[in-house]
Amino acid sequence: MPYDRAREWLGAEPAHNYWQWTERALDRMEELAADALRRTGSLRLAADAEERDELRSEFEALQEDGFPVEWLEPQELRPPVRDRFAAALLHAGDGALHPARFTWQLAVPAAEAGVEIREHSRIAAAEELEADQVVVATDGYPSGLLGRLEGSIIPTRGQMVATEPLSERLFDLPHYGRHGYDYWQQAADGSVLAGGFRDADLPSEFTAEEATTPTIQSALEGFLERLLGRAPRITHRWAGIFGIVPDLMPVVGRVPGSERVWVAGGYSGHGNVLGLACGELVAAAILGREAPLLELFDPLRLDLDHAV
Ligand SMILES: Cc1cc2nc3c(=O)[nH]c(=O)nc-3n(C[C@H](O)[C@H](O)[C@H](O)COP(=O)(O)OP(=O)(O)OC[C@H]3O[C@@H](n4cnc5c(N)ncnc54)[C@H](O)[C@@H]3O)c2cc1C
Repeated sequence: MPYDRAREWLGAEPAHNYWQWTERALDRMEELAADALRRTGSLRLAADAEERDELRSEFEALQEDGFPVEWLEPQELRPPVRDRFAAALLHAGDGALHPARFTWQLAVPAAEAGVEIREHSRIAAAEELEADQVVVATDGYPSGLLGRLEGSIIPTRGQMVATEPLSERLFDLPHYGRHGYDYWQQAADGSVLAGGFRDADLPSEFTAEEATTPTIQSALEGFLERLLGRAPRITHRWAGIFGIVPDLMPVVGRVPGSERVWVAGGYSGHGNVLGLACGELVAAAILGREAPLLELFDPLRLDLDHAV
């Protein structure tokens, strides 16, 4: 959620603590990720005057509270985005993550420390597992393991394309615009990875089916053609699932009604850093250590039975 809204919704101090915690998590990610993370910075782009006003209000709130952020006017942007957008926020500390490589960076030392990793093995019920404590970390994928919380993290599909490598380096950092409906970056080999455009067919994208669709794919291709001034060859297409929570807050803690099942998920499309941070938070909670932000993410807020 934008920082100015977070201050309104959560209160000034919790919002400040939440933001600081995610910034520390990004530093922590850098320690763990080696070459899977490049601290390039990131650009948030305003598509029109209305989004410019929203970014301006977030910029002022971030500045007031001492978070590093820069304001860029359209003419300060590099081609091909120069003058196409109404303004931008530069978050210089942000980065571009290679998630598969990061997963390996975590998996190898975990396996060396004795963790058993099983792939392609679906757990149908927590009772199948002998462990004293179980953490369900399936984000938007419906696991069937969340009891009364099942369904409160809404499966949402994100689709992507990757182009052939371009000879020019056009984008030095990830770009994110139109409230997150458009996002793209240029990989080290020169290919452009673009995603989003869920709003070209919103109802079809509330699904857990990992499949691309012609409508969204052609919206992505059309966007790249307009941005680059030509239609590059598309070499890869894929879709993934993330979990949206209506109040945009992660869901971390004990699953209501269970003594040994915990949940960490519901990152509303931002689970790379939040997933790492919430994984460490749920581990601290299980070990009985101090986990200060846990109450913000309490699963009980989503538990309709409890609310009644
Ligand atoms: C196209 C796209 C772009 C994105 N861009 C960004 C971005 O720029 N920045 C960002 O921060 N986030 C982004 N996200 C969101 C991010 O990918 C997720 O938030 C993140 O992957 C969550 O990590 P996780 O480990 O919690 O869960 P996941 O990576 O979703 O992994 C959950 C796993 O649980 C498995 N599973 C489900 N049920 C069971 C079961 N019963 N038994 C066993 N296994 C089960 C699933 O198969 C899956 O492999 C994007 C997502 C998509 C789809």
